[in-house]
Amino acid sequence: MKIHQVGTEEAVASLHSSRSGLDQTEALRRLAEYGPNSVEALAGKPLWLVFIEEFSHFFALILWLAAGLAFFAESRQPGQGMSTLGYAILGVIAVNGLFSFWQQYRAEQAVTALQKLLPQYVKALRENKIALIPAADLVPGDIIALQEGDNVPADCRLIEAYSLRVNNATVTGESLPQARDALPSGEDETVHSRNVLLAGTSVVSGEGTAVVFATGMHSEFGKIAHLTQTAGDILSPLQKEIVRLSRIVAGLALGLGVLFFVIGQAMGLSFWDNFLFAIGIIVANVPEGLLPTVTLSLAMATQRMAKRNALIRHLPSVETLGAATVICTDKTGTLTQNRMEARALYLNGEHLSLADVHRRPDLAREHHRFFEDALLCHNLKQAIDNGRTHWLGDPMEVALVGMAKACLGTAIAYPKINEIPFDTDRKRLSTVHHTPQGAVLYCKGALETVLPLCDQVSLDGRLEPLHDDQRQRFQQAQETLAAQGLRVLAFAWRELGGEHSGQHLEEKLVLAGLAGLLDPPRPEVPAALQKCRTAGIKVIMVTGDHPHTAVAIGREIGLITGEHPVVVTGDRLRKLSKTQLQLALDSPEIVFARVAADQKMRIVEALKSKKEVVAVTGDGVNDAPALKLADIGIAMGVAGTDVAKEAADMILLDDNFASIVAAIEEGRSVFDNIRRFLTYILTSNIPELVPYLAFALLKIPLPLTIIQILAVDLGTDMIPALGLGAEKPDPATMTSPPRPRSDTLLNWRILMRAYLYLGTMEAVAAMAAFFYVLHGGGWRYGDFLADNAPLYLQATTACLGAIIVAQIANVFICKSPGRSLFAAPLLDNRLILWGIALEIGLILAIGYTPWGNRVFGTAPIGAEVWLFAAPFALGMVALEELRKRLTGSAAANRRAGASR
Ligand code: ADP
Ligand code: MG
Repeated sequence: MKIHQVGTEEAVASLHSSRSGLDQTEALRRLAEYGPNSVEALAGKPLWLVFIEEFSHFFALILWLAAGLAFFAESRQPGQGMSTLGYAILGVIAVNGLFSFWQQYRAEQAVTALQKLLPQYVKALRENKIALIPAADLVPGDIIALQEGDNVPADCRLIEAYSLRVNNATVTGESLPQARDALPSGEDETVHSRNVLLAGTSVVSGEGTAVVFATGMHSEFGKIAHLTQTAGDILSPLQKEIVRLSRIVAGLALGLGVLFFVIGQAMGLSFWDNFLFAIGIIVANVPEGLLPTVTLSLAMATQRMAKRNALIRHLPSVETLGAATVICTDKTGTLTQNRMEARALYLNGEHLSLADVHRRPDLAREHHRFFEDALLCHNLKQAIDNGRTHWLGDPMEVALVGMAKACLGTAIAYPKINEIPFDTDRKRLSTVHHTPQGAVLYCKGALETVLPLCDQVSLDGRLEPLHDDQRQRFQQAQETLAAQGLRVLAFAWRELGGEHSGQHLEEKLVLAGLAGLLDPPRPEVPAALQKCRTAGIKVIMVTGDHPHTAVAIGREIGLITGEHPVVVTGDRLRKLSKTQLQLALDSPEIVFARVAADQKMRIVEALKSKKEVVAVTGDGVNDAPALKLADIGIAMGVAGTDVAKEAADMILLDDNFASIVAAIEEGRSVFDNIRRFLTYILTSNIPELVPYLAFALLKIPLPLTIIQILAVDLGTDMIPALGLGAEKPDPATMTSPPRPRSDTLLNWRILMRAYLYLGTMEAVAAMAAFFYVLHGGGWRYGDFLADNAPLYLQATTACLGAIIVAQIANVFICKSPGRSLFAAPLLDNRLILWGIALEIGLILAIGYTPWGNRVFGTAPIGAEVWLFAAPFALGMVALEELRKRLTGSAAANRRAGASR
C-alpha cells in the first residue's frame, strides 16, 4: 500500500520514523544517503554564451563592420595606415567585450549572493524536540510542523491537520486552494491524495503536522523542475531605456559618419581621408560600455541595500523604489518592535494592572478560564535550543502565555484537540482543549469579532447574561486601553461537553475579559518618518488593530501630528466607493485600522489610480495579492510567511520601517549615479568629435587620431565612470520630492549639459592645446604637416592630454552636480581615485614611453603644455561653481515653496 492509503501511524512507521521524530545521528545518516533537500540550481545561461553575446551585440556588430571596412581599405590602398586602425578597432572589441563580460558576471554574482542571505527554515521534530532547521537539511522520515503561509519544503504525508488548505498551483496547475486532512485516502496516485502536501506548494490556511517522504530532486517538484526552466531574465525599465538610448546614440553616430562622409566628398577631400574621418566619428560616438555599467551599478546598489537590511528580489525594483511616492506600512513589527508585553487587564468589570492580579490570587482562581485561555489559545511551538526552552511564533502569544503562567502560578497542559485558525478577516483564534470538565473552547481575538459570539459574561465568579450595558462597558474598556497605545485582545470560552468539532463551536461563548499589550515603537522610526516627510513621501499606516491604538502609536512616532487625522476603519472602507476612497486618500494624514488583508489591495489599487508609486508591506498569505499589485511589494524577513516573501519585490531582513526608507534612498541615488556617469562619458564625445570637424572643414592636420579617441573611451574614461556609478547617496537625496515617473534618465537638460556646455569647454581646451603646440613649433595656418612629423605628434599628444586633464576635472564636476564641490567630501570614493591614478598613469605611458609613442602616435611634450591645459580644467570647475551658486539658491527657493 502506498503511503497515502494507510493510517497515520503506519505511514510514519513505514519511513522508519516515529511521532517523536528522527534522532540526530539517523537524520545525518539519511542526509548523506538521500542528499540535501534542494532542487539543483537550474543551469542559467551558460557562461560561454554570455561571453559570445558580449561580442555579437548591436555595437559590437557596428565595430566589427568598421574593422572590416578598415581592412578592406588596406587591401585596396596599402600603406595608408588602415590596417593599424583595423587592429585598433579589434582591440576595442576585445577590451570592451571582456570588460562588459566581467561586469555582467559581477552583477550576476552579486544577485546570487543576495539569495543566500535568506535561507528557508522549517520547524522539524528531532529527538522529540521542535527545532528550526534549514529546509535543505530535511530528510525522509522527518516530522515537520506547517502553518498558514509556509512553503511546503518537501513531499510529505499529513499526520495531523486543522482547517488545512494548500495552493498546489506550482506543481499541479490547479489554482484554487484545496482542503487537506490526515485521513487515509483511497486515491490511486499519491500526488492527488488529500493527505499529501507537495514540495513547492504552499499552505494557504490552517496548520498541520506531516511526515516527509520525498526530498530534493526526488520530490514531485524536483522531478518537474527541469521542465519548468524559468524564462530568460527580464530587463528593467531602466535597462530597457539604456538599450533604447544606446541605439539612438549609435544610430546618430552612424548617421553623422555617413553625413560627414558625403559632405567631405562634396568638398573634395581625398576618399581615404574622408573614410578615416567617417569611421572616427562612428567609433567616437558609439556608447560602448553603457549597458553593462548600468547593470553593474544596479547590482552594486542591491548590495548596498542588503547591507542596510533590504533584500532586493528583482533588479528593476531598485529604480522603482527610487520613484516611490507612498508607503503603506503595517504597524505591528514594522513601526513597532513586536516585543509585546502584557500591561493591563480588564477583568471582573475592573481595570487591573498585573501587579494587582499578583496581589489578589483569588482573581486568578475565580477567572481561571481567562488565564487558561491566554495560556492555551495559541499557535506556538515549544522548541529546545541548547537546553533552553522557548516558544516559536507570534511574540504577542508568547507574552500572553508568560503572563498567564505567572498569574496562574502553574503551567496547565490541556491537550489541544481542535483549532479554528486565526486569519486577518476573522481576527480571532479558537482552540479546543481536553480538560477535566470535558472539551473546552478557548477563543481570543479582537473584541469586535469576539463580542458578537458571546451571550454570557463572567463576573464575581458567576456567569451572567451579557446585556447591552455590559457590552458597552467592554467597548469602553477597550477604548481606554487602546488610547494608551495598547493592543487589546478579548478572551472568551465555552465548555463544549461531548462535542468538540463541527460548524457551531464559536457561539454562546462566555466573555471573560480583556488584555492590553504594549508594543514599543522602534527607536529608528521617528527619524525615518522625518526623512520621508522631507523627501515628499507619504506614509500610510494600515493595521488590523483598533483605531485608537493605531492613532496613539501614530502620534508617538510622529506619523500623526494634526488634531484630526482621518481614520478609516475596515467597516467604513467597505462602504466607500473607489472614488470616495481616492478622495479620502487626498488628506495629508490618514490611517487605516481594523482592516483585513484583502482590503489592503483596495487601498493600493486606489493609490495606483491616483498615479502614485506605491510601496506596501505585508507578512501574511492574504497580503500576497496587495504585494503583487503594488509597484514595490515589501515582505517581512523575520515575521513574514514564505508566501508573502515570494510575492514581494523586496524583503526586509529586520522587518524595520527605517530599512524601507534606507532602500528608497539607495534607489534614488542609483538613478542619480547613472545620470552622473552618463554626463561624464557623453561629455568627452564632443572634444573627440570637434577635431574631425576642424580637420574636414578647416583643412588643418587631424588634431586627434582614432586610436587616441579609443584611449579615452576605453581607457581613461572607464574606471572613473564606474566610480561615479558607485557614489554613495548624497545627503541631499532625501530632501527633494520623488522623481516623476515620466522623468527619463537622459533628458534634454542632461544632453545639453554634457554636449553643449561641458563638452564644448573640453573641446576648446583640446583644440587650444593643439594649436598652442603647433604655433610654438612654428606651424602656420595652411602649412603642410606630415603625419609623422615630430611637431604633429607632439600637437596631437597635447590635444589628448588636454582632454584627459579636463576629464579629471569633469569627474568631480559630475560627482556633485547639484552642490558646490567643496560642500561635499571630495576624496571619499576610492574607485574614482583609482580611476584618476590609472588615468594619469596611462597618459604618462602613452606620452612618454617608446611603446606608447609607437602605438598611439604620440611624442613627449614639455611641462609648459600641461601648465597651458590646466587652467582650462580649472575654468570648467569655476564656471560650474558659479552655475551651482546661481541655480542652487533657485532650487532651494523652489523646495521651500513646495514643502507645506
Ligand atoms: P497588525 O496589522 O497590527 O499586524 P493583525 O492583522 O495581525 O494586526 O491583527 C489584527 C487583530 O487581530 C489584532 O488587533 C488582534 O485583535 C487580532 N489578533 C492578532 N493576532 C492574533 C492572534 N494570534 N490570535 C488572536 N487574535 C489575534
Ligand atoms: Mg500582524
